[in-house]
Amino acid sequence: MSATFIGMPGNFPKNAEKAVQDSQLRFNLRKATHTIRDKRAEVVGELPDWGELRAAGKAIKDDVLHNLDRYLIQLEEAVTRAGGTVHWARDAAEANRIVTDLVKATGETEVVKVKSMATQEIGLNEALAAHGIAAYETDLAELIVQLGDDFPSHILVPAIHRNRSEIREIFLDKMPGVSRDLTDDPPALTEAARLHLRDRFLRSKVAISGANFMVAETGTLVVLESEGNGRMCLSLPETLISVVGIEKLLPSWRDLEVFLQLLPRSSTGERMNPYTSMWTGAVEGQEFHLVLLDNGRTDVLADEVGRQALRCIRCSACLNVCPVYERAGGHAYGSVYPGPIGAILTPQLRGMTTDLDASLPFASSLCGACYDVCPVAIDIPEVLVDLRAKAPHAAAERAAMKVAGWVLDDHERLATAQRAATRLRRFVPKKGLPGPMSAWTDTRDVPEIPEESFRDWWERAGRSASAEER
Ligand code: SF4
Repeated sequence: MSATFIGMPGNFPKNAEKAVQDSQLRFNLRKATHTIRDKRAEVVGELPDWGELRAAGKAIKDDVLHNLDRYLIQLEEAVTRAGGTVHWARDAAEANRIVTDLVKATGETEVVKVKSMATQEIGLNEALAAHGIAAYETDLAELIVQLGDDFPSHILVPAIHRNRSEIREIFLDKMPGVSRDLTDDPPALTEAARLHLRDRFLRSKVAISGANFMVAETGTLVVLESEGNGRMCLSLPETLISVVGIEKLLPSWRDLEVFLQLLPRSSTGERMNPYTSMWTGAVEGQEFHLVLLDNGRTDVLADEVGRQALRCIRCSACLNVCPVYERAGGHAYGSVYPGPIGAILTPQLRGMTTDLDASLPFASSLCGACYDVCPVAIDIPEVLVDLRAKAPHAAAERAAMKVAGWVLDDHERLATAQRAATRLRRFVPKKGLPGPMSAWTDTRDVPEIPEESFRDWWERAGRSASAEER
């Protein structure tokens, strides 16, 4: 089944070309990514057993992927036992319909949200809006993105492309009742957002969340966050709806010991995140619904090389070390999943049917920095190379390589090809190859074909030398 997926148009090279012209964007990205990556390196360096933790994280996630069917049923039983209701969604349309119906059943027309990439993936806010339901983001960065009619550009810091004076402008423009005296001081901006959100928290009867982890053994969902908005969303409303990708499972409660160390250190560069909320089923006075989202994940699971992308815990460490992301920014990837993980996850979830998706596996220098920092050891370069070979426009390249292999495999064929190239050299354009091959010579010189091949020269030189000797 192909996934429905909300994203932006274009293709990566074109989007990136535009983005790199924006010096303010490049400055913002460099400052933010380098700050987070330095913090991460410091706290990861403190742990002598980081390598073992990383190996354990990988092993636990691999176990989940190998036994996903079993763990999902176990989770459903545990959540149901604890008073929650589990819904299964094959794609975005089904998930959006389930959530919309649940909200409509409450009679409410407003919901608060705590950051959930899965709901951005499926375009839930837009689907709710089409039914007259307003969804309010409550993470500070998500709020900035939403008020600015913008698109997230980083997993952890969705408004990383904005600086504080831009944020002030957005608040002045879109936040009702905010004072014109608002400065661009971070505490002043945070206070304005806090006052704006407080009212939403207190009046909303329905909340929608994602989850960082779901524990199959106990049916517990876990959200890690830094601002306390998650805690408010999860505990105040009368109805809580969590939309979570099916790969977010952990088999047992004890596995959290590994991931609660891996995630904060890799993500925000903290030893421990400020707020960790855990809930199991429905609590008193609150209805709980869990929507388990596939949306292309089982297709990814079927791919032997690509399935490792489902180990991802969305820490964003790979984005912060990627030289391509640092220059192009998140919008160039045209999806809610930017950076190296986006370059392997989006084309797999969406199926490389558009120009954009087919261009994403090439959005990398294959330097391997992403693999080095990934807390669950996803070999992103390996998946990128595998996807490049599967990209639709790679068919011509594959055919050309096959012909080249056939020629290079036999010295007589090679000699014939070299002679033919020498004879045809005057037809080779000096300024670049025509048609689809022009992409190759746009940034490279066309190599000059010599009048005589080395092989012919060697034969001729050998013949004249022996004639002289005679
Ligand atoms: S691929 Fe690895 S480093 Fe990148 S976001 Fe996922 S878990 Fe983090």
